[in-house]
Amino acid sequence: MSIWLKRAEARDAADSKVRGIVEGILADIEKRGDVAVREFSIKFDNWDRENYRLSPGEIQGCIDQLDERDLRDIEFAQKQVRNFAQVQREALKDVEVETLPGVVLGHKNVPVNAAGCYVPGGKYPLLASAHMSVITAKVAGVKRVVTCAPPFEGKAAPAIVAAQAMAGADEIYVLGGIQAVGALAIGTESVASVDMLVGPGNAYVAEAKRQLFGRVGIDLFAGPTETLVIADESVDGEMCATDLLGQAEHGADSPAILLTTSERLARETMREIERLLTILPTAAVASQSWSHFGEVIVAENEEEMVRIADEISSEHVQVMTRDPDYFLRNMTNYGALFLGPRTNVSFGDKVIGTNHTLPTRKAARYTGGLWVGKFLKTCTYQKVLTDEASAMIGEYCSRLCALEGFVGHAEQANIRVRRYGRRNVPY
Ligand code: NAD
Repeated sequence: MSIWLKRAEARDAADSKVRGIVEGILADIEKRGDVAVREFSIKFDNWDRENYRLSPGEIQGCIDQLDERDLRDIEFAQKQVRNFAQVQREALKDVEVETLPGVVLGHKNVPVNAAGCYVPGGKYPLLASAHMSVITAKVAGVKRVVTCAPPFEGKAAPAIVAAQAMAGADEIYVLGGIQAVGALAIGTESVASVDMLVGPGNAYVAEAKRQLFGRVGIDLFAGPTETLVIADESVDGEMCATDLLGQAEHGADSPAILLTTSERLARETMREIERLLTILPTAAVASQSWSHFGEVIVAENEEEMVRIADEISSEHVQVMTRDPDYFLRNMTNYGALFLGPRTNVSFGDKVIGTNHTLPTRKAARYTGGLWVGKFLKTCTYQKVLTDEASAMIGEYCSRLCALEGFVGHAEQANIRVRRYGRRNVPY
């Protein structure tokens, strides 16, 4: 039987408030286009421009503000993300097979034509999201990759713009939140609409993407970051506390959960968290998320930890136990696993090469994170190469159409049985 030493608060009221705000803003962008986008940009970001797209000169100006070391670090991270995305792309094969004599079926992985990549930047200039979305879209073969990020401290964030440009974006806009994803999906006088929206963001961005799904494709529900640390006595409380607070600093709505078989480690971690919160420069945010949404759970054994972790379906799962591969073998619901104490979520977030745009709010029950496959449509095709095959399939089809009462469908089959089989359809 598991014991909860600390439990999170419920979030339903906040969710329905966000839903209402997003609905109103998207409807207004639909009606008034650029005028509405500009008003919301001024209202939420105190940011006003005639045109939110950056010119080549402005982009170069941002790149020039970074020192050589920063640019090399960005290049290193982008190379890791590109390499892994390329390997994943190569693993996705097109298919063509003769399933019956003369019957050929296939599928092709076709990239969407235009993708909008949101890069979050309200609280921190999250340049890593530019690598994750823009590079992945380009490796998938998307022709037009448009990217948006909010202004940071009153201007375009130089590091984000440099990362967007170095990742190969075709259009860069300095626009944030609902107005950014709304403009990209709906299209305005100055922003041509895209086919697909991707990238993480706060609760407003995630909810806007959810409401826009259908009108455009979306990658996944990737809202405020969540982390689950699974640990046993093979690590200490300082390591667990550091990994929990490292993600809690994302925002006051970011849950951080410890799941362990050791009550001693659980109590040590809680003490370490209190200590670290007195020295962490981002403690103001991290302490709010820890006090409202932090959880500490003590389970009986590894089997119970797997069951609870699958129920939580966390975005990030850091495993620091004697046998981390046990969780790789047995867990089914997670955005990404970080196996063993030598790696951690921030390696994945920033540099190691796996994508950091990952499912939140239990979306890990039905999807993994962003990857090249999300930009590809698996489109099927078929050919019938011989008269015999056409007439043979036609007879089956005709009878099945008749069972459904579809006379017009049946005639599509029948005409082929008559022409290519030179016989009438037997009833
Ligand atoms: P953000 O860019 O997502 O959001 C900032 C924008 O929110 C602003 O530009 C503003 O227009 C809008 N906004 C703010 N308050 C608003 C209000 N009251 N009404 C309407 N719009 C409002 O940046 P952020 O806020 O720093 O959030 C980034 C988020 O991305 C964090 O929650 C982080 O955890 C999350 N994240 C998730 C993943 C993932 O893969 N799931 C990865 C990285 C980051």
